[in-house]
Amino acid sequence: MVSIYTAMFALTMQGFSQAPASAVKEVHSHLSHIANAVCCVQEKGPLDLSPPLSRGSMSARAFDRAPAIWRELPPPVAPYSPANLPSDKVYVAMVFPVVNATSYRNSFNDMRSGFRHTGIDIQAPKMRPIVAPFSGRINFKIYSFWIYGDNGYRCLGTHLNDDTPGSNDGRNNMDFMFAPNLRPGDRVQMGQLIGYVGNSGDATGPHLHFEIHGPKGIRNPYFSLKSGQKLSGPRFPLTRASDRPSAGQTRFEVCFRGYNPKTNNMNVIAVAKQTSNGAVTAYAKPTFVNINVRSEVAPDTFPLENPTDVPTDRVFSVYARQSNGAWIAQRIVPPVEE
Ligand SMILES: [Zn+2]
Repeated sequence: MVSIYTAMFALTMQGFSQAPASAVKEVHSHLSHIANAVCCVQEKGPLDLSPPLSRGSMSARAFDRAPAIWRELPPPVAPYSPANLPSDKVYVAMVFPVVNATSYRNSFNDMRSGFRHTGIDIQAPKMRPIVAPFSGRINFKIYSFWIYGDNGYRCLGTHLNDDTPGSNDGRNNMDFMFAPNLRPGDRVQMGQLIGYVGNSGDATGPHLHFEIHGPKGIRNPYFSLKSGQKLSGPRFPLTRASDRPSAGQTRFEVCFRGYNPKTNNMNVIAVAKQTSNGAVTAYAKPTFVNINVRSEVAPDTFPLENPTDVPTDRVFSVYARQSNGAWIAQRIVPPVEE
């Protein structure tokens, strides 16, 4: 056990991009055929919530800000002890944090090896979208997030996906773990995409371990989950909703990932799109798009020629048309820097 957490700590200190695959323990459950089949995913010990990590793609300036955010929005830490957890029923208004059908049972307070289970394990396939159960401010570190809700409650979710889709490589690509448009301390809206279900850390199978912390400490999230509103897809809080694409045009809400000055192709990860009839669709999985940007289209405030100045975790709008199978940008509205 000690070696696992030493390895996790080493992983934490190295950041996302250099994390060795071997540091992430993959345990495939042999328990699924044993009597209580619903109880086949769980954790083996306390969460590592030691201080923060940068996103692999986070700018140096944003990372410099992270320690202050960590002090301002520290992770809620669950008790790690064999003592009984509080049994009172609380009903926190929320949307269910995993989209589409999922299975879970009331495993809060279950005895594990020397400690009580401090949350509910929501089982779902890898890469199933996780959404904000309520609005508030988010902070996160590798494969865990927590939200300080406007409602006075905090929630925490962990075991987000750390694998390249279709593999078990534990490479910690942030674009397959979290929504691209999150920065520590950001406000998130109820139903907004947070990230993806996985089996990271000491999970024995893909699931979201979900905790609720009230003003008086940890509470059983089961009752809130039971009464939570289930979504069939993430929501996207569209800014400038009146600024619709024209006929034949698509508005993409995207985060910057790269630019090739030879081809004028910009690579982005799309968060949502809007068609000219006004319909908005939030993407439910990481979706990379290449968009051709001629120099006269990029505004002066959007330094494509110097892309390290373009933040990778802020959303901006691209109004584009399709031509011969390629997307051609017609207008770009740069990200808003707070
Ligand atoms: Zn759990």
